[in-house]
Amino acid sequence: MMPAIPNSLFITKQMKEYIEGKVIIDFTFSDLDKGKYNVFNISEEKTAPFKGRKIVKADSNFIITENGWLCEFGYSDGTLRYFESNEYCDINHTNSAISGGVALQFVLNDGSRLRLDLSGWSNRLDIRTVDPPDIAYPFRNKFPLEVNDKNDFTFENYKRWLSDHGKTTILEAMVLAKGATDIRTSMMNYILWQSKIHPKRKVNTLTDDEIRTIYDNTVTLVDEYITENRSCFYTDIFGIRKGEDDETLTLFTSRNLNKPCPKCGTSLEYVSGGGTKLYFCPTCQPK
Ligand SMILES: [Zn+2]
Repeated sequence: MMPAIPNSLFITKQMKEYIEGKVIIDFTFSDLDKGKYNVFNISEEKTAPFKGRKIVKADSNFIITENGWLCEFGYSDGTLRYFESNEYCDINHTNSAISGGVALQFVLNDGSRLRLDLSGWSNRLDIRTVDPPDIAYPFRNKFPLEVNDKNDFTFENYKRWLSDHGKTTILEAMVLAKGATDIRTSMMNYILWQSKIHPKRKVNTLTDDEIRTIYDNTVTLVDEYITENRSCFYTDIFGIRKGEDDETLTLFTSRNLNKPCPKCGTSLEYVSGGGTKLYFCPTCQPK
């Protein structure tokens, strides 16, 4: 009899030791949600180069095979699981989702499997080659400005980016699909609150001082994360939540709508913009 609940491990941070060095016998995919839009562009053709290939490098969000193919993924907590054997692994189909989901499964040579469920706009999948396959950090810069790199996220580069995007809102110029950086929207809303800038201000209305303030606040926050003076939650291999729920990521989110601004007490509001809700304080951040 097949067990109803597979004896799986939730992995979001450390899968290196479980899969590196193993050979991918099969790489399958199937529909998870029957959505209106196909967010994840996957096909037999895309999975074929992984089959029969050894995993030379892997971690919580990517797998690289000996022939130089990279599968990189961004997913929700708990949707990446490692199964030690061929356990029952049901796939839930739903018809209500707007965006379609996909379940990927790497079948490994020792009988274990890695299953990844991708669903929703915030999840992502990228399959391509890397050259050479063993480079330390295989990812191309996805964003025009790399905030973790002080040689790249300079004030000059930042100002140049903004001057080319004068007609967009400051929030869109910084984050979201066409933004300069991979800072989270909630953190960007926090930076704009610190900087006293309304999230829908057009870039070409910002003064030099305001641009400088946003830049300085961004650099300070990024530094605090890099030096581990701030940290956020993650789920370890045993499914245990670790870290802290930092206010930079949570203050300007739906949970605090209509709650008082920590600086002035005004109820926090939101405006729609860039396909999402932007939370802000109407007093600290006048339009
Ligand atoms: Zn306020």
